[in-house]
Amino acid sequence: MAVTRFAPSPTGYLHIGGARTALFSLLWARKTDGKFILRIEDTDQSRNTPTAAKQVMDDLHWLGINWDYGPEVGGPAEPYFQSQRKAIYEKYVNQLIEQGKAYYCFDTPDELEQMRQKAAAQKKNFLYPRPAEFPDSSQIEQARSQGKPVAVRFCMTDEEIIVDDCIRGQVKFSGSGLSDFIILKSDGFPTYHFACVVDDELMGVTHVLRGQEHLMNTPGHIALQKAFGFKTPVYAHMSVTVSEGGGKMSKRDRAKVLKEAIKKSQNLDMEALAVIGGISTSELEEFLTGDAIPDQPAIDAMAELLNIELPEVNIVDFFKSGYLPQAIVNFLALLGYNPPVEKEILTMAELIDTFDPSRFNKTNSLFDRKKLLSFNMEHIKLLGEQELLKRYKDFLKGTNSPAADADDKLLLRIIKAGAGARTLAEIEQKSRFLFIDCGKIEYNEKDVEKVLLKNNGDGLAVLAELKNRLLKINEVSEKAIEDMLRGLAEEKKAGLGKVAQPLRLAICGTTVSLPIFDSVDMLGIEETIKRIDRTVSKFSPMCKKE
Ligand code: GLU
Repeated sequence: MAVTRFAPSPTGYLHIGGARTALFSLLWARKTDGKFILRIEDTDQSRNTPTAAKQVMDDLHWLGINWDYGPEVGGPAEPYFQSQRKAIYEKYVNQLIEQGKAYYCFDTPDELEQMRQKAAAQKKNFLYPRPAEFPDSSQIEQARSQGKPVAVRFCMTDEEIIVDDCIRGQVKFSGSGLSDFIILKSDGFPTYHFACVVDDELMGVTHVLRGQEHLMNTPGHIALQKAFGFKTPVYAHMSVTVSEGGGKMSKRDRAKVLKEAIKKSQNLDMEALAVIGGISTSELEEFLTGDAIPDQPAIDAMAELLNIELPEVNIVDFFKSGYLPQAIVNFLALLGYNPPVEKEILTMAELIDTFDPSRFNKTNSLFDRKKLLSFNMEHIKLLGEQELLKRYKDFLKGTNSPAADADDKLLLRIIKAGAGARTLAEIEQKSRFLFIDCGKIEYNEKDVEKVLLKNNGDGLAVLAELKNRLLKINEVSEKAIEDMLRGLAEEKKAGLGKVAQPLRLAICGTTVSLPIFDSVDMLGIEETIKRIDRTVSKFSPMCKKE
């Protein structure tokens, strides 16, 4: 029975890498009938944003990663926000101090920097110089009254520490090469290392899954566990996921694409762009010329203004791009892990059922976006009609689509007509024409040239003919529209596309939409004719001029 936990430091939206850690922690707990805990590691006062924990929890719920103990549900080791557990940590810090296993220190950031520089100049690892005698209470008081930062450091062991990692095997660290580290900061909050070790013990955590970047922290955690007499959990440090351009999947990837797009755009009003992004012009300038990256809402707003798509890195980005949580979960489960099954498309239940911790990979995995798209298409097909409708409505609401208020009957019809789409966004784009006023339809220039104006306005002539025939349809249905279009194509001895594409362009402004018979039927004959009239009167003069 594994008790696992996901312990995010809430600094913003849930990142795809965090989601993977959470997912595997859930799988392990579920497979062994254990428990999965969510713990919010919010002791870093400088980095927390008030809404960040809520965002992380919303994203986890959306993915279907639900916790047995943690915020919202409570549990035997409440509270699950570390910021509310200060008194618990103080007690444990005091215990170490009393046992002579930890001591106070008062170094200023400048002093520490000097020590580090000295070590670097001697090409040595920085090891904090542990005093022969630990400061007593009067020295601590004095330091406090002088306004020095009073922190507590742990006496790191000199012994060898072996991390017995279930993915990486035994990794040995020499304790004497590791520095005494801070466990209680001068602001009274514990460091991540300390709070994490205390909470894993108090919450009965038996298995710790986390990213490979934490492997270096683990010897310090094991030394602390030994000092307290705590049990050491099973560790699994998961390999890194790299983006297609190389490097980690980071918000830097998004920022880079936006930066290039801004630099390429001509006549862009920088002041307006900054206003849209909610940042100052100097912040925008720093972003364009240096390494500073604005926060996600600013990046998103500017990208929207420029009408560009950024590579998704946070769970919310994937939601907004029209991915299903089922597809993301399935895709994440195959990053750095090989399930013992032949097929690749797997549901959460199948992932739990087949979970085998001996099948993690040591090597980095590539975040293959094409594969994710094809997974999404498969999961859209797998979803029942009502479930898909619910997901689609959430998507429309979350993206402020003009279709968000449409009734279920129409949306169901759209979903059916959109079968085969790779994302929900694709269905939305292909059906947007139904929710835009005739006068607001924007025409794709290339399509207009190819479908309407070419060959002396062939397409425009087809539209005029189509109008007459549409008016003659007595009983409007998808079938009647299909018969009429096919009939006209036959008479003209042309393919269906010759008559369907001009019509599509007239009603949607592009040649990409849902199937045409359905599209016309959903739009209605009257509105279709209105759009034909608008198109013909707009483009006929252009044709004559040529
Ligand atoms: N709060 C840490 C993080 O977000 C948790 C690491 C761990 O799982 O121990 O990286």
